[in-house]
Amino acid sequence: MNINIENLVRENIRQLKPYSSARQEFSGDADILLDANENPFGSPLNVNYNRYPDPNQTELKKMLSEINHISPDHIAVENGSDMLIDHICRIFCIPGKDNIIVLPPTFTMYEVAAYTNGNEVREVPLDQDFKMNTQKILSVADENTKVIFLCSPNNPTANNMNRDEMEKLINQFNGIVVVDEAYNSFSNQKSFIPDLPKFKNLIVLQTLSKAWGLAGLRVGIAYTSTLIAGYLNKVKTPYNLNVASQQFAIEALAQTDKVNAWISETKEQRNILSEALKSFDFVETVFPSETNFILVRVKDADRLYHYLISKKIIVRNQSHKVLLANCLRISIGTPDENKQLIDVLKKF
Ligand SMILES: *Cc1c(COP(=O)(O)O)cnc(C)c1O
Repeated sequence: MNINIENLVRENIRQLKPYSSARQEFSGDADILLDANENPFGSPLNVNYNRYPDPNQTELKKMLSEINHISPDHIAVENGSDMLIDHICRIFCIPGKDNIIVLPPTFTMYEVAAYTNGNEVREVPLDQDFKMNTQKILSVADENTKVIFLCSPNNPTANNMNRDEMEKLINQFNGIVVVDEAYNSFSNQKSFIPDLPKFKNLIVLQTLSKAWGLAGLRVGIAYTSTLIAGYLNKVKTPYNLNVASQQFAIEALAQTDKVNAWISETKEQRNILSEALKSFDFVETVFPSETNFILVRVKDADRLYHYLISKKIIVRNQSHKVLLANCLRISIGTPDENKQLIDVLKKF
């Protein structure tokens, strides 16, 4: 499909002259920084946070670029992928006119971002096996549908979308397709990042919040064309990612061995916990998982949910969502936490 991405971008965003920060206008080595009205003495803390962060996140992007074999101008980083989702809606969707498509049950930030921006949300629910229906999605899309959000592996159903179907949709849809890979490292499906050159309309989202263990630092990443990355960088606030987030993210990204070991352990625990859950007579279905959580259907989700709260164990009640009657979503904990959960469930 010969799709013109530039034409999909809102006129006001195309025209926008981004804020130019002091640190962006000058890059090089300087001895005296009198350009940004900072406190020159330091900060009251032991660590000096008195200087603004690198607005271009150069080191961080270089690191991400090496890990994912893609050049830094294909990357945008934000305070969590939540913020990228928000910006994607704002770049492509005209308030009061355009719409997005989501595939419930799925991550709800997509619709929150669209509603915040004054956009209609069209829902094309997954089928009973949590599979996407490409034909139905395409038939619901019209000329005002600008973005389709695919979450794979999907939160909260824990399964991957079918890769051929995803490719078909990206090829046939005349707008932007976002593939949210927040849980990709726990799955056997390969990332869409290497396929970016094939698709002009694709944005791949990843995050350091899940497998990488940095939820508290808020680092989300978009991998996409240089054109779309350019727009994501254009609409961001100048110093969007703070000094600590950039610095610690860089340090963490050098420790892939540690993270890979946690991923293996999580997968192992996923098997153990799944098997244990299947043994309880109040459990109806333990859905297969490609993520770091397990979706489970029980006889009475509300009762079990409140029982667990009374034992100081918090899981996510998904019962109110389409297709998820009596379903709970349980994040996989440490071996000890999972054992405690199982012990508590034995007394239910
Ligand atoms: C957790 C989650 C995110 C949020 O990531 P942040 O980078 O922490 O904002 C994005 N997408 C999905 C599907 C998630 O489950």
